[in-house]
Amino acid sequence: MRRPLIAANWKMHGTVESVQHYLEELIRRLGPGSPQVVVCPPYTLLPVAVMVATSSAVEVGAQSCHWEDKGAFTGEISPPMLVELGVPWVIVGHSERRQYFGETDATAAARARAAQRAGLSVIFCLGETLFEREAGDTFAVLERQSTALAGLDPARLAVAYEPVWAIGTGRNAAPEQAQEAHAFLRLRLVSLLGDEPARGLRILYGGSVKADNAAVLLAQPDVDGALVGGASLDVEAFSAIIRAAPGDSRVG
Ligand code: PEP
Repeated sequence: MRRPLIAANWKMHGTVESVQHYLEELIRRLGPGSPQVVVCPPYTLLPVAVMVATSSAVEVGAQSCHWEDKGAFTGEISPPMLVELGVPWVIVGHSERRQYFGETDATAAARARAAQRAGLSVIFCLGETLFEREAGDTFAVLERQSTALAGLDPARLAVAYEPVWAIGTGRNAAPEQAQEAHAFLRLRLVSLLGDEPARGLRILYGGSVKADNAAVLLAQPDVDGALVGGASLDVEAFSAIIRAAPGDSRVG
């Protein structure tokens, strides 16, 4: 069985004080049987997050990284810089990066490759817009976007299916819609990465996951976790989502 992975994407929220309190509380609630938990605050909070989470069950991630190790890329952060801070995870290809910051399939692929080259584990996001879904193009979009996963190391990879129409809208995908997309992605991963790696790889669902819809989404056979935005900002709400993951989850 794939161990569930529940990740928090704080987006552009949080302060040094809030991340410290949040992580202390989250760490206190996690038991030995809990799912894998990754918290991704903004860059400025990573040093304190790493400090608080060291030797705990919570891992820390960044929300993006550049595809070069260094250079004239004002405002960017490279994978080795994250590694130097002790950050083990990074989100790549989030739809907000694609929508507002010109991220493309090609740049997302380059970031993911560079991140893994530096030793980071990647949560690679993909998903269709409402327009694409209504045009019947969901699977074509997933097929195109997932091409970026070819050549990545499956041992340091999780995929997040995040339908753009469900992110931050309060409108989550129906469990059957999520399962259908995840099953499609699983098959696609078999052809990209091989049968065994694809069967072991976690495919997370993201898009308006809340305490009250998490259990039914996480119960789908190919939904191996969640990438949580808004609801991850509150430690009680995020803990409730972690508790909803199947398995031996001992979470306070
Ligand atoms: C996200 O930011 O990846 C996300 C899924 O956001 P939300 O949970 O707020 O929809």
